[in-house]
Amino acid sequence: MSAIDDLPPLRQVIADHSLSARKSLGQNFLLDLNLTAKIARQAGDLSGTDVLEIGPGPGGLTRGLLSEGARKVLAIEKDARCLPALEEIAARYPGQLDIIEGDALDIDPLAHLTPPIRVAANLPYNVGTELLVRWLTPPTWPPFWQSLTLMFQREVAERIVATPGSKAYGRLAVLAQWRCDARIAMSLPPEAFTPPPKVSSAVVHLTALPAPKFEADPDVLSRVVAMAFNQRRKMLRAALKGLGADIEDRLHVAGIKPTERAEQVPIEAFCALARAVAAR
Ligand code: SAM
Repeated sequence: MSAIDDLPPLRQVIADHSLSARKSLGQNFLLDLNLTAKIARQAGDLSGTDVLEIGPGPGGLTRGLLSEGARKVLAIEKDARCLPALEEIAARYPGQLDIIEGDALDIDPLAHLTPPIRVAANLPYNVGTELLVRWLTPPTWPPFWQSLTLMFQREVAERIVATPGSKAYGRLAVLAQWRCDARIAMSLPPEAFTPPPKVSSAVVHLTALPAPKFEADPDVLSRVVAMAFNQRRKMLRAALKGLGADIEDRLHVAGIKPTERAEQVPIEAFCALARAVAAR
């Protein structure tokens, strides 16, 4: 296996710094540096780009991002035990790795980054979904990031890229695909991680579009979609009753049959419905 840098192998880093994986922090590490470099390549051309990495752990993906030419990596890690290992990477790449110890959910990274910015991370599932939703719903569009390259449980990745008519299609798919191109870039078996998780994983790559695919007020669309999928087995005229007594009329204006169910409705039609509701 060829080396991507002259730092020690990750198994040695983990042994040197006693980084036994903690379940409570969702720690399933990637120790194959060729694999982490391959994931870094999925993030696109990193030259001249700052990369925000959440949860670097012992630094496998961090090293991949730096060896693939990132201008700078800002790494936010909650587990203080990982910091000495990350400092060794920072010393190997002077001025190119900034490390912040803390919870990514509480930290605003923007002050530390210069556009263009890409995001790359191998995160625990719960934090990953919450951060993804935040990144997809900024106060203004386009967002601060050009792309997101994120590891998820395979099942969550499929929800992000799902198309209408499939079981996986829901709020996450609409949120992700309304203003982004989203695709599964890589699939990884449990054995790719140490320790192996119970389920397979996948890397999702999302590219921010300059403008939404279809016009709609983000808050109205978000409310409509949340309500529609909250009772996804019900017909829309029942599931969306809370939007007002004239919901059947609004559905007709949007070109949606009131007897349809949420999972059959394409994003374009949800946007038309959000416009019809807002125009009332
Ligand atoms: N990126 C490393 C890799 O690929 O080997 C580690 C991935 S591991 C799945 C997730 C990492 O996220 C762990 O290092 C964990 O300590 C860190 N983490 C968990 N929750 C976090 C949070 N709220 N904020 C920042 N980092 C967090």
